[in-house]
Amino acid sequence: MRGYVIPILGLALWGSAISFANAQPSPPQFGSWGVDTAAIDDSVRPGDNFFLYVNGKWLKTAVIPSDRSLIGTLQSLRILSEQRMNELAASLDAKPYDQLSGEEKKLRDLYDAFLDQRQINARGLGPIKKTLNYIAGLKTRREVATAMGRPDLGIPSPFSDAIGSDVKDSSKYQVTFFQGGLGLPDREYYFKDDPGLAKMRDAYKAHLARVFSMIGLSSPEKRAAAVYDLEHQMAEVEWPREEDRDADKTYNPMTFNELKALAPEFPWTALIAAGGITPNSPAGPRIMIVAEKSAFPKLAKIFARTPLHVWRDYVAVHYVDSNAAYLPEAFDKENFAFYGTALQGNAAQLPRPTRDAHLLNDLMGDALGKLYVARYFPSSAKAKAKELVNNLLKAYDADIRTLAWMTPATREKALYKLHHFTVKIGYPDHWRDYSKLVIKRNDLIGDVRRWRQFDWDRNLVRIDQPVDKSEWNETPPTVDAYDNFLWNEIAFPAAILQPPLFDPQSDNAVNYGGIGAVIGHEISHGFDDQGSKYDATGALNNWWTPADRAAFETRVKALGEQYDSYEPLPGLHINGANTMGENIADNAGLAIALKAYHIALNGKPAPVIGGFTGDQRFYLAFGQIWRAKVRDQALRQQVISSEHSPQQFRVIGATRNQDEWYAAFGVKPGDKYYLPPEQRVHFW
Ligand SMILES: [Zn+2]
Repeated sequence: MRGYVIPILGLALWGSAISFANAQPSPPQFGSWGVDTAAIDDSVRPGDNFFLYVNGKWLKTAVIPSDRSLIGTLQSLRILSEQRMNELAASLDAKPYDQLSGEEKKLRDLYDAFLDQRQINARGLGPIKKTLNYIAGLKTRREVATAMGRPDLGIPSPFSDAIGSDVKDSSKYQVTFFQGGLGLPDREYYFKDDPGLAKMRDAYKAHLARVFSMIGLSSPEKRAAAVYDLEHQMAEVEWPREEDRDADKTYNPMTFNELKALAPEFPWTALIAAGGITPNSPAGPRIMIVAEKSAFPKLAKIFARTPLHVWRDYVAVHYVDSNAAYLPEAFDKENFAFYGTALQGNAAQLPRPTRDAHLLNDLMGDALGKLYVARYFPSSAKAKAKELVNNLLKAYDADIRTLAWMTPATREKALYKLHHFTVKIGYPDHWRDYSKLVIKRNDLIGDVRRWRQFDWDRNLVRIDQPVDKSEWNETPPTVDAYDNFLWNEIAFPAAILQPPLFDPQSDNAVNYGGIGAVIGHEISHGFDDQGSKYDATGALNNWWTPADRAAFETRVKALGEQYDSYEPLPGLHINGANTMGENIADNAGLAIALKAYHIALNGKPAPVIGGFTGDQRFYLAFGQIWRAKVRDQALRQQVISSEHSPQQFRVIGATRNQDEWYAAFGVKPGDKYYLPPEQRVHFW
């Protein structure tokens, strides 16, 4: 399901109930009180670039490993989680096979199947020969649409369907159709005038040609040019990201017959039949949701006018690409040369065991997660973390009650929504059942194919059933957090709830500026430019008065203009509209976390530690959690295709709107990122 999943983490501290007094007297992971002060670059004025001030010395010496596109705070947590997942896999391998549970056997067999590159190489293209012949034999557009609709093959398509919560009634599942089918990370890659991207376009065409040649097809360059041209046409008519994140514009309910009338050139019946979706539900004609409505007729016309042989090539090359990791080394390397090196700038691929750990997490993340939490996440941690998140919710409560720009009627509803947030911590209450998944030690391609079908069928069988809101969108070993405003919930997987994001040995101000800001970030998504359109039940349903909406929009616009002005790479600006939800959440999360910290001081002045005031330590911690050094290629991809601003501007963009930050660091007119008080944007 698509949902609304927001990368970035959480957990916090508030009030005297959660005290660090019980902490063991061991030093925090960073510095002597939680911040690595050796990283601070005193030659940079905080008001000129706060990110560089906090992290400058670290940035000068940090080296990005050749197999990563970045290094920094979050990346080190990911590396730790990978190590732990590998330890778990190794412990399964160390046990006698017949002493493992059924689920553990599947984990071990899948792990071993992926690791056994010798066997994979020896089999060559044998395991996909049948599918390649099937693709070569597609004779009609209907058959092409059937191939695209098959859940087991992993083939992209101009139209994809997904089963998830209905945006207007999150207690029901709904089929939604989306635009898609591009091999590059974003439509802008196909036509944006940028020398870096022009190089990537050439590299992409060369990559497609090499794949054609590797599967033994003639005239590979000609085929590659035709597939590229097809994708270019699709990119031209598809919606840009900033429109695609608009919850109202992308909610277009219709019956199946209406969908067919909207874009009659596409064989819709073949597409949905391949996935087992019926045009009718037990209650009558099935209502389906079309996301990028105006693009659909145009994409269908492109589908109809493109020669069949080009579609066969498109399906074949993307089928091979989406399975490259499970094919002989030459295919894996070719795929990495483009998607890893050309697009991301990584010189080396991650070690195969590390990738294997990710595969287990992607395919059987609940089974792996069960082992992960048993070893690395005690239930006491879950209870404590839950309490911490609740304390941030309390700070929001106090804040909403005193907001000057919100009218009493809207304020009541905002509080109601806040009080009905579901908080998920660590791991799910019910684990997913993998008993129907068949994993074979000697059939990796088959394992992945069966998993895709298994995953799809799970959604398919419950399409007309009530939604199970106890489910998670991320697995426990995942270093991330998310907000899902369809279910009015926030979730923090186990792997994010640990140092250096949250360190019980650190000073209070540091935990509030670190993980506290992150929890505040996730909660505030429920009130960002899109989240605020959803009510306490998670339904897309406006609950704001026009006056409140207008006051909010004024702030949104001003914030968007600030981010539009940031230029992470020469000539490449942040898209303020595309990153709006995240920028609001950073702004709001930091403001709320500071309030929570002040409340926790209980009226007493904050101590000075290491020569820094409480507020200074709070902001230093915030700058530290976003510490990162990123390759230019990866940074370009992030600016173009991510809803998150680059780390440097998450720090700069959030702090410069806070009056307390100016006071803490003596930021004055003339400093590069100084904003006059009337231009600072405050939401909460
Ligand atoms: Zn976010």
